[in-house]
Amino acid sequence: MTDIRIVPLVKGDGVGPEVTRAMVEILDAAVSKAYGEDRRIEWQEVLAGGKAFEQCGTYLPDETLEAFKKYHIGIKGPLMTPVGGGIRSLNVALRQELDLFVCQRPVRWFKGVASPVRHPENVDMVIFRENTEDIYAGIEWEAGTPQARKFYDFIHNEMGVNKVRFPETSSFGVKPVSEEGSKRLVREACRYAVGHGLPSVTLVHKGNIMKFTEGGFKKWGYEVAAEEFGEEIASGKLVIKDCICDAFLQNALLKPEDYSVIATLNLNGDYVSDMLAAQVGGIGIAPGANINYTTGDAIFEATHGTAPDIAGKDIVNPCSNVLSGVMMLEYIGWDEAARLVVKALEKSFEAGYATQDLARLMENGKPMGTAAFTGHIVELIGEEKS
Ligand code: NAD
Repeated sequence: MTDIRIVPLVKGDGVGPEVTRAMVEILDAAVSKAYGEDRRIEWQEVLAGGKAFEQCGTYLPDETLEAFKKYHIGIKGPLMTPVGGGIRSLNVALRQELDLFVCQRPVRWFKGVASPVRHPENVDMVIFRENTEDIYAGIEWEAGTPQARKFYDFIHNEMGVNKVRFPETSSFGVKPVSEEGSKRLVREACRYAVGHGLPSVTLVHKGNIMKFTEGGFKKWGYEVAAEEFGEEIASGKLVIKDCICDAFLQNALLKPEDYSVIATLNLNGDYVSDMLAAQVGGIGIAPGANINYTTGDAIFEATHGTAPDIAGKDIVNPCSNVLSGVMMLEYIGWDEAARLVVKALEKSFEAGYATQDLARLMENGKPMGTAAFTGHIVELIGEEKS
């Protein structure tokens, strides 16, 4: 009997269909090579973004959400941001709807890929960014509106706040950070580290200044680690440490080998993810996933945007989407197929074969179009020993 996994698939806008085609071809080849007839992915296209709006008059149809909920996993290409009213961002809407509280970003270097740092091989981290709270929660009021006035009056009159320098022309945002939200994020970071034999979890925060929000994250992080991973910590298998975010951004450049799993709040996580991705080759290659480890719901995604300037030109780098597919394979325990894809990418980059965004920066770069590169990776997978 073939083990069939149904995976809802959003092709995405702009370059989305091209990177999705590449990802599907490469993952199918790897699964077939690894498991023959025993396992197969059945891709089920669901709509979101521009294509959904054209066909259904809505950017995020209920059927799409239902499919993600039913099958617990899904993968998506980049989506355009709707213009005007309603949804601020489809990605944020999906994260909120499914309460995908972990934004997980592995960051590693592939030999051959050009990097702005001297030792990119020392960058090997997995970022756990909190996805539902923080100043990112979208609770803000624009300067000059009655809401901003009302908010200021409340904090000034009722709470005795005298620190707003220009109240009349200030916009305001609220930064909720909770014990539950912090603990569930740090718990999963620790679980991941222990499950993958990784040495440390670093809590990255700005608690020296924002004592109750970012400081709370740090305090609750240490608490949950001590409560639930005491044995691993005592035996030296897991080290929990913390670092102030600005220092972390320096240290991650100067001594990245000191860091393994990173647990951090939403806004810090945004900056940290892109900075680390740049160290290993940039956005064309950085994968990501948004996961609720409690329900098991997970959506894997390319981290770059729709790149309208290069859409349809057969030059987009599909690796971000392909590597998010690798994360999905690992998430469902199809590790051998994941390994085959990674091995093929390693071989390709080492020999200089890559899409032009990467190849033009490589010493021995041999630029390939998206389709040719995809075919090349499929060939390399075929040559692998499984
Ligand atoms: P972008 O990531 O689409 O493009 C930035 C630059 O990087 C462009 O020059 C583009 O050609 C290049 N680039 C991006 N991905 C590449 C790849 N895989 N290979 C080669 N080059 C690549 O960012 P943007 O221009 O700021 O955003 C365009 C649209 O995408 C906007 O509507 C934005 O809201 C949306 N967006 C979506 C997501 C998502 O769905 N996850 C993320 C970011 C932006």
